[in-house]
Amino acid sequence: MRRRRRRRRAGGLLLLLPLLIMGLGISIGAAVTAWTELEGIDRSGRITGPVLFAWSEKLSEQLHLSLAAAEAQAEEDMPEAEWEEPKTQPEREPDTALSIAGGSVDLEAAPKLRIVLDPGHGGPGLKEEQELGAIYRDTYEKYLTLEIAQAMREELSEYGNVEIFLTRDTDRAMTLKERAAYAESVGGDLLVSLHLNASLEHNFYGSEVFVSAFEHFHARGAGVGECILKELTDYGFVSKGVKTRLGSNGADYYGIIRECKSLGIPALIVEHGYMDEDGDWARMNTKEALRTLGQRDAAGLAAYFGLEKGRILPELPRIEETIPPAVVRPDTTPPEEVWYKKERQGDGRFLITLHGVERESRVMYYDYSVDGGETYGKLQLWGSEDTVQFPMNLTGEEQLVFRVYNNYELRTEAR
Ligand SMILES: [Zn+2]
Repeated sequence: MRRRRRRRRAGGLLLLLPLLIMGLGISIGAAVTAWTELEGIDRSGRITGPVLFAWSEKLSEQLHLSLAAAEAQAEEDMPEAEWEEPKTQPEREPDTALSIAGGSVDLEAAPKLRIVLDPGHGGPGLKEEQELGAIYRDTYEKYLTLEIAQAMREELSEYGNVEIFLTRDTDRAMTLKERAAYAESVGGDLLVSLHLNASLEHNFYGSEVFVSAFEHFHARGAGVGECILKELTDYGFVSKGVKTRLGSNGADYYGIIRECKSLGIPALIVEHGYMDEDGDWARMNTKEALRTLGQRDAAGLAAYFGLEKGRILPELPRIEETIPPAVVRPDTTPPEEVWYKKERQGDGRFLITLHGVERESRVMYYDYSVDGGETYGKLQLWGSEDTVQFPMNLTGEEQLVFRVYNNYELRTEAR
């Protein structure tokens, strides 16, 4: 763990005042700029990764309510934020409920991680839809991420050796640059940006984590990300893994990761699951479920750093991290050697053998169509082998199309 020099609070506040003013005034415009750099839809038209939502007409069509009506509805559904602004929160005194491991410990000297939680999106979003995040089931991602962050803070506050900060504690607009600047102003050791996903075809499901592709930023983000994914998998999500994404200029693609890295802070984006997929939605569709997500995130983070509940440790465990020797590149090619064969079985059914190879990442899902690609069934999970086998009832009239996906959502078709 890096020990950072603790900043004086007064200095921090002075530094933050302009940010607050900006937050009231011009941050909406800045948010537009920041988000334009951050399209969440790739060239093939798929919404990828964190839904730092680039607005699309297609999505707009899918809204049941007009934006204004949806906004009004959301206002009604969600309680007023009751937390004070994070920037005015006092430094937390050592919690007397926390015991001290190993007898007498100089509390001031005990190492303390400064973790910044970043609830994705936020703000009125009537014109700046990116502030809302993903919108499904008449719900805005921005509210759900805040709920998760608050639960994560609450859970983490039961651990020793950690101080928690939120980039936003209310529904307000912040640019990605402002979020990173805030993390720096509080001496953050790590920023965890919390999101919920959606896909254009509404077919993907699972949790995934995006991290920097570079050096110790990668090592730290990936280490924490793996621990969080383990928790989310235990809760019932499928893991799509820890991934990187690079922009055309070779830098980290996602703004929050890039902005934090430029200030020397490792960051990760946790995409807990897909709002537009029924199975995933069932694990986030109540306040309790969202709180569980936050608690799982907290448990994963605490496990990575070796934090203990109710105890202040005189030293934190050493963390073995492997700094990657080169840029950790994302997989940019779809699965290879994709083919299928069908064999008639004794019972009149057909046994399908579907093959696919992925050398850079891993095969994640498959799906198929019986009408020549007009419609597809639910994405099925791929196993650990290069083939999957399953029976199908076929008349012989079907026009079969199989699609094999890697965990970067790139797919190859076999007809
Ligand atoms: Zn998001």
